[in-house]
Amino acid sequence: MCGIFGYVGHESKAAEIVLEGLKLLEYRGYDSWGIAVKQGKKLVFEKHVGKIGDAKINLPQSSLGIGHTRWATHGGVTEKNSHPHLDCTKTIAVVHNGIVENFQELKTELIKKGHKFISETDTEAIPHLVEENLKREGFSSSVRDAFNLLKGLNAVVIANAVSKEIVAAKTGSPLVVGIGNKELFVASDFCAIVKHTNKVIFLEDKQMVILGEKLKLISLPGGVEIQPNIQTLDWKFAETEKGKYKHFLLKEIHEQPKVIENIALNYTTEINHLAKLIDQAFGTFMLGCGTASYSALAGTYLFSRIAKKHVNFSIGSEFNYLEDYLTERSLVIAISQSGETIDVVDPVVQAKKKGSKIVAIVNMLGSTLYRQADFKILLGAGQEKAVIATKSFIAMISVLILAAYSLAKRQIAGKSLLLKAAKNVQEILQEEFEKSLQKVAGELRNKEHIYIIGRGLSYASAMEATLKIKETACLHAEGFAGGELKHGVIALIEKGTPCIVFAPNDETYDDIVSNAQEIKARGGFIIGIGPKNNNVFDRFLPTSDVGDATIIPQVVISQLLAYYLALKRGIKDPDKPRNLAKSVTVK
Ligand code: GLU
Repeated sequence: MCGIFGYVGHESKAAEIVLEGLKLLEYRGYDSWGIAVKQGKKLVFEKHVGKIGDAKINLPQSSLGIGHTRWATHGGVTEKNSHPHLDCTKTIAVVHNGIVENFQELKTELIKKGHKFISETDTEAIPHLVEENLKREGFSSSVRDAFNLLKGLNAVVIANAVSKEIVAAKTGSPLVVGIGNKELFVASDFCAIVKHTNKVIFLEDKQMVILGEKLKLISLPGGVEIQPNIQTLDWKFAETEKGKYKHFLLKEIHEQPKVIENIALNYTTEINHLAKLIDQAFGTFMLGCGTASYSALAGTYLFSRIAKKHVNFSIGSEFNYLEDYLTERSLVIAISQSGETIDVVDPVVQAKKKGSKIVAIVNMLGSTLYRQADFKILLGAGQEKAVIATKSFIAMISVLILAAYSLAKRQIAGKSLLLKAAKNVQEILQEEFEKSLQKVAGELRNKEHIYIIGRGLSYASAMEATLKIKETACLHAEGFAGGELKHGVIALIEKGTPCIVFAPNDETYDDIVSNAQEIKARGGFIIGIGPKNNNVFDRFLPTSDVGDATIIPQVVISQLLAYYLALKRGIKDPDKPRNLAKSVTVK
């Protein structure tokens, strides 16, 4: 969460460079934003509440600046709470990602020493701590000593107008340094830097880098100088455009057939290797959060039915309480679009300590999980700009389907199944089909709740569809295994309550239709999704019969339904839903 960008160099356009970088990082948080630049021996700043959008900046010319786009954890969304935060002398400015868990006690001490606090954030303790240390020592050791006092997982970038330096340090969230021609950059994500340079250093946890006339990397907490590992990446700056689409979300939904085809046609070696690792492991655990967790949930069904293999699943944030049984023969498969999700990174770090093997299935090259894994699969879905995950989910599912088929020594059958699913997605993305979805969205727009059910593989679809509707359309939805409804939730069904029923052409069909009947008998309004229509359905959205890949068309229909529901409910920017951020780097 939160986007950080820093620049120091020969250009006098620091403010513009930082602003441009922040615009590329806005997916990480968009409550508020701010930039500080050096003017003489002081720092001057601008802060704004809301999204950056097409904002212009009115700051003086400068060769050093830092900026931040915030996802608030401590303190409301106000200008005062926006970063950068300054010390009392206005020579030190800090942008921060994470939570300073001991900020209360640090703040109390600093106030006693006479420091004036302006915001309610945890972050503001940091510039005052550095200011305090500067009374006794140089800038980099002041930052080091301050940073060593912070509890929690944090990434900071700190500017000093007097020494003309920027220092970055981290124990948690990502930071990448870019090395240009007499200029240095630091950002939360390489995508914000790649326009300027492809020479980068990925900062590791417990490292600090000093960016000034020269670059110096040191280890924390001791401060011993270390040799940086400079990598030259072969990425190009391709500004993603919406093209003919109104929103990135719709564009990315439409990119999904290509994403599936790419995996079906080009991933043989990686997938075979993954299948081998699962086969050899003594216990495999898949981890994910949010959408990725539902791909992992689907994975448990896929490996069971296709490969007759027991594979475990846990949501990332719970795994630390479950991992007591990990050994060095265990395999942990971390699934994450960004590769930065702290609730997955954290248990992976613990699993590594126990010697377990780590596989990362991620979309972002160079991300933390990518770097930590023993074996990695890049999803190849391309940059996902909308905060709502769509094509990355479909890519995760495609990888898992193919891996299960590979484990069953039926990779060719898996590939042709994926190609069949890609074809069905193309059909769903036709104008006519989308119109039928818009009609259903119109019927649902004023409802207060939607229930969604599925069994087996389609249970995972129900959970993912539910999340799409909640986060995209801000409408309460709840997903269940079809058999569960009568164990309590059926009490909530009344006349007109909408219920989406995933009814694929598999062993779940008869039972899920019976569940639909039970809901209908109590007045429910049934929307059926699957290859076979049924009298119980009030509305029917057809898919092809794509067997074990049934989750693909089911979820694509749900994504589109959620998108059109959002528009019908008057949501202005479905690319940036309320309260969310793309890369979740706080616990
Ligand atoms: N904890 C800090 C705040 O609330 C930083 C949040 C972020 O990572 O954006 O301001």
